[in-house]
Amino acid sequence: PVIARFAPSPTGFLHIGGARTALFNWLFAKSKGGKMLLRIEDTDRARSTQEAIDAIMDGLKWLGLDWDDEPVFQFSRADRHRAVVDQLLAQGAAYRAYDTVEELDAMRASALAAGKPPRYDGGWRDRDPATAPEGVKPVIRLRVNNEGETLVDDAVQGAVTFPNADLDDLVLLRSDGTPTYMLAVVVDDHDMGITDVVRGVDHLTNAARQIQIYRALGWDVPRMAHIPLIHGPDGAKLSKRHGALGIEAYREMGYLPVAVRNYLVRLGWSHGDQEIFSTQEMVEAFSLSDVGRSAARFDFGRLENLNGHYMRATPDEELVQIFADALPYLPGGPEAKAKLDAGLWDAFRVMLPAMKERSKTLIELMDNASFLLVDRPLALDAKAEQALAADGTRERVAKLAGRLAALPNWEAEAAEAEVRAFAEEQGIKLGQAAQPLRAALTGKMVSPPIFEVLAVLGRDESLARLADQAG
Ligand code: GLU
Repeated sequence: PVIARFAPSPTGFLHIGGARTALFNWLFAKSKGGKMLLRIEDTDRARSTQEAIDAIMDGLKWLGLDWDDEPVFQFSRADRHRAVVDQLLAQGAAYRAYDTVEELDAMRASALAAGKPPRYDGGWRDRDPATAPEGVKPVIRLRVNNEGETLVDDAVQGAVTFPNADLDDLVLLRSDGTPTYMLAVVVDDHDMGITDVVRGVDHLTNAARQIQIYRALGWDVPRMAHIPLIHGPDGAKLSKRHGALGIEAYREMGYLPVAVRNYLVRLGWSHGDQEIFSTQEMVEAFSLSDVGRSAARFDFGRLENLNGHYMRATPDEELVQIFADALPYLPGGPEAKAKLDAGLWDAFRVMLPAMKERSKTLIELMDNASFLLVDRPLALDAKAEQALAADGTRERVAKLAGRLAALPNWEAEAAEAEVRAFAEEQGIKLGQAAQPLRAALTGKMVSPPIFEVLAVLGRDESLARLADQAG
């Protein structure tokens, strides 16, 4: 059975690339009927924070990516990592290296001067520890076999070989006894029974080094899949402006988790030219062999279109729930939620079909619903202000208000018929009557259909808003 893992370092929030790695692992595990485990790689004590751990777990949950079993915390396994190093020392596959900082610096400098990558010279491989300089605490290094080459047989990158002459004797334990990332990953993947390592292609050269550790320990190497990185729309490394944000930023921008998930799956993976996938379809169609090698390009426009699609496609009652859950995270959302909770949800529901047609994000939906949430007298935006300032417009609003006040029934159709009749009598276009109404009732020049707005606001509130603006 497949056992995959997502292994974030909790030194920052769950960024979009990490979320995509988690999604691919999750889909891969689900498509194989296997498990996805979560390992928090918190060995960098100075930079790992509880806040980041919480943000990663919250982000995964928000995206609907659950993990199997309890999360594994890498730092808590340091004793096991040290025990494995003891075993490597005992079998002669690792050794203590007593190089001083000055010696290591000199090695680095001469390699750079020769235009070569810095590489440890293996000086302490066979030197007698009795000759160690006083007071130097050793690191423990792997005795790498420098003959031949190391093959990374990768499900995405294909067969990639690294000449072993290029691999130096990597550090397993630092001089303070703490395990390195390279060692901890191998020991944990082995102990957790990981069958498939799916991660960013930036780890490909680490894979060759890790394979050396597996070989020294006589352990099976898991299958590997190194997935392409995400670039900005211009092909350059993803920057904040391009979307290299924490996943919580997408929640705050009013995207639906289902849309973000669908967007992420298409970053590097394709299935014919299909763009929209239900979760079930993703799981059924996903395959590592359909992950491409070239970097994926991040495109906010596509994410926005997908989000608009899911807003329209989500049944109203479900969307109300998603919106209510999202409000605490949206700018101005908590205030909006308080008002809706105070008795405006029914009105919101009535307007939802019209509002969701014109909203690509939950923020736009909140914006479309703002006419419900504002207090009298309304603050007009600049365009509404301008429209009402035109000669005779406020007088027209006053006349219209009088006509509407006389209606026996306060309904959208009746109001529309009355405003049409008024426009005809005055010899003006319908818009010349309806737009000032819109300005006065919503404070804006764009809003959901104005006669529905009128009906939903009710007689008293509508007439009061019109009176506020009447001349
Ligand atoms: N903790 C590493 C990272 O966040 C991932 C290690 C791995 O997947 O092997 O980049």
